[in-house]
Amino acid sequence: MNSLAQQRGQQHDSNSQRGQQGAAQGAQNQQGGAPQASTPIVTSSSVWDKFEKGDKIGEGTYGLVYHARSKETGGRYAVKQFKGGREGDGVSPTAIREIMLLREMSHPNIVKLESAHINRQEPSLWLAFEYAEYDLYEMIKFHRDNKENRRDNPYGLMPQYVVKTVMWQLLNGLSYLHQHWVVHRDLKPSNVLAMGEDPAVAPSQHGCVKIADFGLARIFQSPARPLSDNGVVVTIWYRAPELLLGARHYTRAVDVWAAGCIFAELLILKPLFQGQERKTHGNVFQADQLDKIFRVLGHPGIKSWPELEVLPHWVDNTDNVRVKRPEWGGTGLHTAVLDAMRAAAPSWAQGHVPQECVPPREAIDLMQRMLDYNPSTRATAEEALRHEWFRTDPKPGPNVFRMQNAATPLVRYPRRPMTHDRVPPGVGPAANQAAEAAPPGPPAPPGGGRAGGGGGPGGGGARGSSTAAAMLAAQQGPQGKRRRVENVPGFR
Ligand code: AMP
Repeated sequence: MNSLAQQRGQQHDSNSQRGQQGAAQGAQNQQGGAPQASTPIVTSSSVWDKFEKGDKIGEGTYGLVYHARSKETGGRYAVKQFKGGREGDGVSPTAIREIMLLREMSHPNIVKLESAHINRQEPSLWLAFEYAEYDLYEMIKFHRDNKENRRDNPYGLMPQYVVKTVMWQLLNGLSYLHQHWVVHRDLKPSNVLAMGEDPAVAPSQHGCVKIADFGLARIFQSPARPLSDNGVVVTIWYRAPELLLGARHYTRAVDVWAAGCIFAELLILKPLFQGQERKTHGNVFQADQLDKIFRVLGHPGIKSWPELEVLPHWVDNTDNVRVKRPEWGGTGLHTAVLDAMRAAAPSWAQGHVPQECVPPREAIDLMQRMLDYNPSTRATAEEALRHEWFRTDPKPGPNVFRMQNAATPLVRYPRRPMTHDRVPPGVGPAANQAAEAAPPGPPAPPGGGRAGGGGGPGGGGARGSSTAAAMLAAQQGPQGKRRRVENVPGFR
């Protein structure tokens, strides 16, 4: 891993590149590197004193997400209800620790935490985020479901400009996280958001890509238990091979692997490595997931990946993983991606990939670098940002939906689907009546339709609310000053 100083240099490089391309967002924060003034914490009031609750956006590993409007400004927010601790007896102190971190992150490609609300009586924890109208899961699904419809989906597949801009901004956000020693650990399409273009959103934010849910994933201390105690199904499709082979520690490289998988998915409109998960508690060996990877990338060897020799499942030869099977020769990424793109292409493309969507060699080369088996030679986010592909046309821009202030977006994606759900635990009827619905969208996918729900449970078990409150009371501000745990004036 590069030193921080080196990384800062690289960061500067990628920013000047961004400047050349007119993609201004990110530069200011990245150059400064200083976290913004931290998010207000409100402890005594219910979140619904401040927000009017709308429909349910979705369910993550940690709880439910609702659309909401600020009672003060009318602005749109995504409010996440953090599930209680494992025994339902408090807010996990680990979660509190993560919020302390999340509230100090500030980057255009990281979703902004606006406020956190902790109710000690219940106890419960709610987080209010800036609202993003789109996410990659829905964008990918839109192309897949509308492939024949040229009016709504003129390119059939995702246009190169959209793919490249998503990857550029995603890697910028990832680079910022990694430079601040944060590993996301749960990157997947539904955790990568894009801001809408409605008038309430600042024009500089239109079409801006944001990583969400990043700090929360840290409450999991190990990948050893892939299923949540709360019954949330989690995905293994974006999990790096070192974790699948039993590595106990997450590194930045696991995020780059996941971003590489997302890259492929934008092109082929389905997960690149869609393994069948063994759903058992404990550190179960995910044989089918590795099989899916080996079929494309080939069977790994210690020559290019020396640390393989110490990975537990390799050492134990679990399910004969060390013995190369004929089908593990590896079709190669280029063939696998191009074949899958042809299969995903609309019939009017007559067996070809539509011209605007054809990935050049450099794109696959970058993907290959991000999907390097060896985590120590895998591209870092900064290295990926310096890749040639980002310097070729079409260049990435600040707005994922339209190229250089074009009058019309390349694709008109449908607004986020939501479900009508007005009675979450801990919400009074008055708040429910006041709820304001978001614009209607297509029906939500069935439960589990979104790729998984996150990492897995780990050490973030519940302690009593008193522990959480004590941690809050002891919380440090960004300058190391002790902050009081009370209503903070100036809350919006
Ligand atoms: P999560 O708990 O972060 O996995 O999110 C669950 C669902 O809520 C996913 O569909 C996310 O795309 C969506 N979501 C999360 N954060 C936001 C946000 N800030 N704005 C809009 N939707 C969000």
